Amino acid sequence: MISASTKAVGLIGKPVTHSVSPPMHNAAFEELGLEYVYLAFEVSENSLSDAVSGLRSLGLEGANVTIPHKTAVMEHLEGLDKTAEKIGAVNTIDRDGERLVGYNTDGLGAQRSLETKVDSLEGKNVLLLGAGGAGRAIAFTLAQAGSDLTISNRTASKAEELASEIEAEVGVEVGQVPLENSQLRKNILESEILINSTSVGMHPNEDETLVEAEDLHSDLIVMDIVYNPILTRLLEEAEEAGAETIDGLEMLVRQGAASFEIWTGEKPPIKTMGKAARKAVEEKP
Ligand code: NAP
Repeated sequence: MISASTKAVGLIGKPVTHSVSPPMHNAAFEELGLEYVYLAFEVSENSLSDAVSGLRSLGLEGANVTIPHKTAVMEHLEGLDKTAEKIGAVNTIDRDGERLVGYNTDGLGAQRSLETKVDSLEGKNVLLLGAGGAGRAIAFTLAQAGSDLTISNRTASKAEELASEIEAEVGVEVGQVPLENSQLRKNILESEILINSTSVGMHPNEDETLVEAEDLHSDLIVMDIVYNPILTRLLEEAEEAGAETIDGLEMLVRQGAASFEIWTGEKPPIKTMGKAARKAVEEKP
């Protein structure tokens, strides 16, 4: 039931029409009987400032932020959580009285997804493919969790920059390896966890992968953060190699759950959110 006291949260980005966040969060609000509604707002780059002012003046409880606004939105907020500041991107806004505060839950979403398979990430040998927005969030979070991290990115200078930033901020060494199969092979063999945080394998390029199937092995946990399709070529080949797998929808649900907790202060109903998100992805045209 939507009433005059219903609280609103929303998604700002472009495009947003295929987002699974509205069904996922609305299912969670309904499950817990919370008087909230989640809506998606398509906001172009030159309307971002107005959109954030609108969010503030209309008294929305918070929002998610997606492509292309994750970095640009930062200058329009009154506060930033330390993790979002380090990562340099915001995916969640929370209203704190009159102030809008930015958070980034992508890294936490990845960490919590991995923790469904391992007790602790401390000391785990992790190979991360990608140093884009999501890759940065995951790299900082896993370094903070004590993982032994190696980053590989198509544009090597971005991996170098990210490694230096992590070394300066978190105080741990981060390895780097060129994104070439001949170079990755040895790292994959030595790794316990392999994460694809690039967009390779995403619709409409489902047949693409950065890893040779023969390099995958049964001692690996393979996580692909691409969720369209849910079963990427990388995950399919990892399953065939006997590896444990985590799909991108798991991370999507976990990062959404972390946002839900920030807005409502309630423990998120993960199962309900997962079911709604999976249904929304599967029903997408
Ligand atoms: P982004 O900031 O644009 O970064 C893209 C990354 O992919 C960069 O590292 C880029 O390398 C790499 N890349 C792109 N095309 C490549 C290619 N052909 N070969 C090798 N590397 C390539 O994007 P993002 O926001 O990080 O998102 C990346 C993916 O993660 C998207 O598919 C997105 O939908 C997904 N995602 C999932 C979740 C989740 O919760 N599951 C959350 C966020 C994002 P360069 O630096 O060399 O360009």
